[in-house]
Amino acid sequence: MDRTIVIGAGPAGLAAAHELSELGRRAVVLEQDDQVGGIARTVVYRGYRFDIGGHRFFTKAAAIQELWEEIMGDDFLVRPRLSRIHYRDTFFHYPLKPVEALIGLGPIEAIRIFVSYVRARAFPIVDERTFEEWVVNRFGRRLFQIFFETYTEKVWGRPCSEIGADWAAQRIKNLDLVAAVRNALIGNRADGQVVTTLIDRFHYPRLGPGMLWERWTERLVERGVEIRMETRARALLHDGGRVVAVETERPDGSTERVEGEHFISTMPVRELVRALRPAPPEFVVQAAERLAYRDFLTVVLIVDAEELFPDNWIYIHSPDVRVGRIQNFKNWSPDMVPDPATTSLGLEYFVHEDDDLWSMPDADLVALGARETARLGLVRDGTVVRDGTVVRVRKAYPVYDGGYKESLATIRGWLSGIENLQLVGRNGQHRYNNQDHSMLTGILAARNVAGEAHDVWGINLDDEYHEAGGGAGDRLTPGVARDRTLEEVLAAAFARYDPVALGAAVGVVFGVGLFLATAIALLHEPGDPGRVLSLLGEYLAGYEVSWMGAGIGLLGAGLGGFAFGWLVARTINGLIGWEESLLRRQILARTLDPLEAMPQ
Ligand SMILES: Cc1cc2nc3c(=O)[nH]c(=O)nc-3n(C[C@H](O)[C@H](O)[C@H](O)COP(=O)(O)OP(=O)(O)OC[C@H]3O[C@@H](n4cnc5c(N)ncnc54)[C@H](O)[C@@H]3O)c2cc1C
Repeated sequence: MDRTIVIGAGPAGLAAAHELSELGRRAVVLEQDDQVGGIARTVVYRGYRFDIGGHRFFTKAAAIQELWEEIMGDDFLVRPRLSRIHYRDTFFHYPLKPVEALIGLGPIEAIRIFVSYVRARAFPIVDERTFEEWVVNRFGRRLFQIFFETYTEKVWGRPCSEIGADWAAQRIKNLDLVAAVRNALIGNRADGQVVTTLIDRFHYPRLGPGMLWERWTERLVERGVEIRMETRARALLHDGGRVVAVETERPDGSTERVEGEHFISTMPVRELVRALRPAPPEFVVQAAERLAYRDFLTVVLIVDAEELFPDNWIYIHSPDVRVGRIQNFKNWSPDMVPDPATTSLGLEYFVHEDDDLWSMPDADLVALGARETARLGLVRDGTVVRDGTVVRVRKAYPVYDGGYKESLATIRGWLSGIENLQLVGRNGQHRYNNQDHSMLTGILAARNVAGEAHDVWGINLDDEYHEAGGGAGDRLTPGVARDRTLEEVLAAAFARYDPVALGAAVGVVFGVGLFLATAIALLHEPGDPGRVLSLLGEYLAGYEVSWMGAGIGLLGAGLGGFAFGWLVARTINGLIGWEESLLRRQILARTLDPLEAMPQ
C-alpha cells in the first residue's frame, strides 16, 4: 500500500495522520522535536505546565469539536474567561466595557477621547494606508493611542504607521470596539451581544493543550501510524513534478531517506522552499526569503502566592515594560500547577531572533520578568519569585506584511507543479490559523490523498468553518480573532431600532405624560386649571384641561408620540444603513479572503 509522509506532529500534521488512518491509509509522521503538539504543545518545568501563549479551544466546526471532546472526555474543561488590559496602572476589561473604560480613564481623558473621535469622524484621513490611519479613522487618535498603539507595536515590533491598513481591516473583531465605543458615546444601539460573546467561556484540556495532542498521538500509534520523533525533514527530493523522498536528520547526525507516494508538509513555507532539492528557480527562492515571521518567548515565573490576579491573561499596554501579555496558567486549569500554594505566570515577549531579548541568558530574562511584574503591581512587595524558566519559539507568527500575498502566490504557483505535495497548517500555509483551522487543512489534505478534490487553501469561514467568540482572535493580537461571518458581525454592530417599539415607547410616554399632567392640574389647581397646559389645545384638536380633555390628550399625544418615535427610528435606521453600506464597501473592496478578514 502507498504511504503518506507527514512533516510535523502539530495539530495539522496529527489531524492529517488521523484522517489517513481513518481512511485506511498508511502514514509516517516526521517530527523534529521531542514533543508533539507544535506551537500548541504544553511544556512542563518541575511539574508546572504552560502553553506557548495560552490556547483556548474554540471552534464552530462541529467535526473538530466532536474530535476534541471524544479525545479528552471528562478532561475537557469548560473554563470561564477573564482578560483585562493593563494601562497606566489601571485594569480595563477586554472586550472593553465602555462605562468602566471611561471611569477608569477619568473625565479629562474621556473628553479627549470624545473630541478626537468626533474629529476623526468629521475629518477622516481620506486615503488610509496604514494600520494607524485605519484605526484613527474609526476610533479617533486618542483611543488609538490608549488601546492599540503600544500593544500592536509590541506584538509586531514595528510602528503602527508601518503596518498596512489591510492588517487592521482584517481585524473585523474591532467592530466590537466600535460598537462598544458607540455604546459609550451615543447610547446602546449596537448589539450588546457583540461584546458578550467574547466574555464567554472556552474549552481547555485539564493539563493544557499538550494533553490532547499527546493522548491523540498515543491512539494514533496504537492504530499503526508511525510517528518518528526528533526526526527533522531537512530535504525534500523531487523529480519529474513529484516529491520522491524526504531526507531526514536525527540529533546524533544520522540521516535517512524516507520514501513515500504522498507528502503533506506543515513546516514553515520558507523552510520548505529552502529544503527542496533540486532548488526551485531563483524567483521562487527569493519570494520565500521575503516571507517574514515574528518569534516569541515566554518567561515562566513560579511565584510563592496562592492567588495573584483572577484573569486568565492580561494585555500589557504600558510602554514602560517590554512584556506584552501575561498568562496565569492556574486560572486556565488548576491542575497546571503542582502546588496550589504557588502560581505560575507566563510572561510573553514578542521578539525577533536577532533581538537582544532572544539571546539574553535565561537567568537574566527571569530577573527581568520578576522586575516587570513587580513594576506592574501584579506581584506584591515581598512576594518571592521562587523559580523560573524560558521557552523560545521561532516563527510563532507568520507576518502579513505588504508583500506576503504576492510572495505566497509566487510560491504556490510554482509548487502547484509538484502534484503529490500539499501544504497545510499555520506556518505550512503562512496563515494566521488557529488549531481548529490548522486541523481542518490537514484533514482535507488527507482526503485528497484518498482521491477527493479539496482546495486546502480555500477553507472558508463562511462554509463549515466558523470560529466564534474570539478564537485566539479576540486577543488583541492582530489577525488572530476570527469570529462570526461578516454578515453576522455587521448585523450585530449595525443593529437597527425597531420603529414600532420606539414609536410605542414614545407614544406611551407622551400620552400618559399628558394625561397625568392634566390630572394633576385638575386635582391640585382647581381654581386655575393649568393655563399653560391649556395652550396645547391649539395643537391638539379637542384638548382642554378637563377630564374629557385628559382622555383626548392621552389618545392624541399617544398617537403623536408614536408617529414621532417611529419617524426618529426610521431616520436613524437610514443613517445606520448608510454607514453600514460604506463599511461593507470598504471591506469588500479589500477582497480579503474570509479567513484573513477575521482577526486572531
Ligand atoms: C502565542 C500563540 C497563541 C495561540 N493561541 C491559540 C488559541 O488560543 N487557540 C487556538 O486554537 N490556536 C492558538 N494559536 C495557534 C495554534 O498554536 C496553531 O494554529 C497551531 O499550533 C498550528 O498547528 P500546525 O500543526 O499547523 O503548526 P505547528 O503547531 O507549528 O506544528 C508544526 C510542527 O512541525 C514540526 N516541524 C517543523 N519543521 C519541521 C521539519 N523540517 N521536520 C520535522 N518537523 C518539523 C514542528 O516542530 C511542529 O511540531 C496560538 C498561537 C500562538 C503563537
